[in-house]
Amino acid sequence: MIKLENINKTYYNGAALHVLKGLNLHINQGEFVAIMGASGSGKSTLLNIVGILDDYDTGTYHLNGKLIRELSEKESAVYRNQTIGFVFQSFNLISFKTALENVALPLYYQGVRRKKRNATAMRYLERMGLAGWEDHLPSELSGGQKQRIAMARALVTNPRIILADEPTGALDSQTSVEVMHLLQEVNREGITVVMVTHNPEMAGMSQKIIHIRDGIIGSIEHNTQRHHV
Ligand code: ADP
Ligand code: MG
Repeated sequence: MIKLENINKTYYNGAALHVLKGLNLHINQGEFVAIMGASGSGKSTLLNIVGILDDYDTGTYHLNGKLIRELSEKESAVYRNQTIGFVFQSFNLISFKTALENVALPLYYQGVRRKKRNATAMRYLERMGLAGWEDHLPSELSGGQKQRIAMARALVTNPRIILADEPTGALDSQTSVEVMHLLQEVNREGITVVMVTHNPEMAGMSQKIIHIRDGIIGSIEHNTQRHHV
């Protein structure tokens, strides 16, 4: 479903920084993949390209058989909104909106009417164990609760893929494991999960660990004994 071939990406700010150097990556529907690598190795760059948030210079990226390069900006936005949910280390919630409003926002962009989007958002908040917290602002919630709101927001559009960039990076280990269990649960329902992490314990809870090194995929480890903490 995710097929990157010979992807190159260079940033120019003063000096040129060649971050991805002919990277190849295939991820199948339903996989749970962890991406590891040193800080600055291009993990977020890779995830942003996969998420159609950022462009690449050369190579090809096919998502579900569609060549992403050929989509217009507007088509990309629609496709992204329908296909992909994002989870970030810093949660990226809107501070002046309630938990429910944050979760409902992607549906607003899809043109779903208020009553329906609030009902759907509420279902996902409940699924994330946050019933009763819907009217709270992010500042009134713990890190783990904020990340669960972000997960509900990522899932509310019923995406095929969840992309998570260090989703447990700001959480303590107990809360991290809880978030990982939610990602595993989502994956068991058939959603492809691609997660960047620094933490070997969290990576061990995926099916496959991809190591990025020197701008390409350095090695792939298969977690045959998938680790449930
Ligand atoms: P990682 O997520 O593995 O830590 P990133 O993909 O964020 O790495 O960044 C890879 C390299 O590219 C880093 O050296 C970073 O400073 C640089 N970089 C990332 N984004 C930009 C940008 N928008 N402009 C210029 N340089 C960038
Ligand atoms: Mg990063």
